[in-house]
Amino acid sequence: MPKKGKIFVISGPSGAGKSTIVKELLKLAPDLVLSISATSRKPRAGEVDGKDYFFLTRSEFERKVKENYFIEWAEVHGNLYGTPKDFVNENLQNGRSVILEIDVQGALKVKETFEDAVLIFIEPPDFEELERRLKSRSTDDEETINLRLQNAIYEMALAKYYNYRIVNKDLKKTIEEIIKIIREEEKK
Ligand code: ADP
Ligand code: 5GP
Repeated sequence: MPKKGKIFVISGPSGAGKSTIVKELLKLAPDLVLSISATSRKPRAGEVDGKDYFFLTRSEFERKVKENYFIEWAEVHGNLYGTPKDFVNENLQNGRSVILEIDVQGALKVKETFEDAVLIFIEPPDFEELERRLKSRSTDDEETINLRLQNAIYEMALAKYYNYRIVNKDLKKTIEEIIKIIREEEKK
């Protein structure tokens, strides 16, 4: 019987650097698998269905909620997002650790179901830098950016429930720190 994998949840305010970190993390630690979420949000330029997200209409998403398809789901910045159950469970059974890049509400729900899930919160160095990163990404309009900045205050207040908090200043150092946490937690 292979050792069971662990869930590692990565959260943090929009623009803190989660997607960038996860992308690099998977290159450096290819034994980890990333759970692809479903969302009712419209794809951004360059986003691919089944790779970045499973893009669903709101009604398709709501049907899947009724079918108990998700481990957790939440409304974030006005859209629905959820983690498909089967993919996560199959990988855990096969002894592989799974990364979930999800919001704070989802993270707390995951922790209720999977007690040994490890929650990692990514913080920006400060609010001004968060705003700068959101603007430099050029993926969202001003209204969307403002909504995400407002939500950052609420999200930061929930960071205290996480097992680890990391300030993403130097990207390379952040990734090294996360890999160290994952390897130590996998041994427990
Ligand atoms: P999130 O997934 O948390 O919303 P992204 O990964 O899209 O954030 O990052 C937002 C922007 O900040 C991107 O343009 C990214 O290149 C940049 N970024 C990420 N990490 C850092 C860092 N440590 N220093 C400077 N810029 C960063
Ligand atoms: P974005 O629209 O920038 O891709 O993501 C917006 C927010 O939704 C981020 O905080 C991201 O972590 C969160 N998110 C992405 N997928 C999921 C999911 O499956 N469940 C939950 N609860 N949040 C998610």
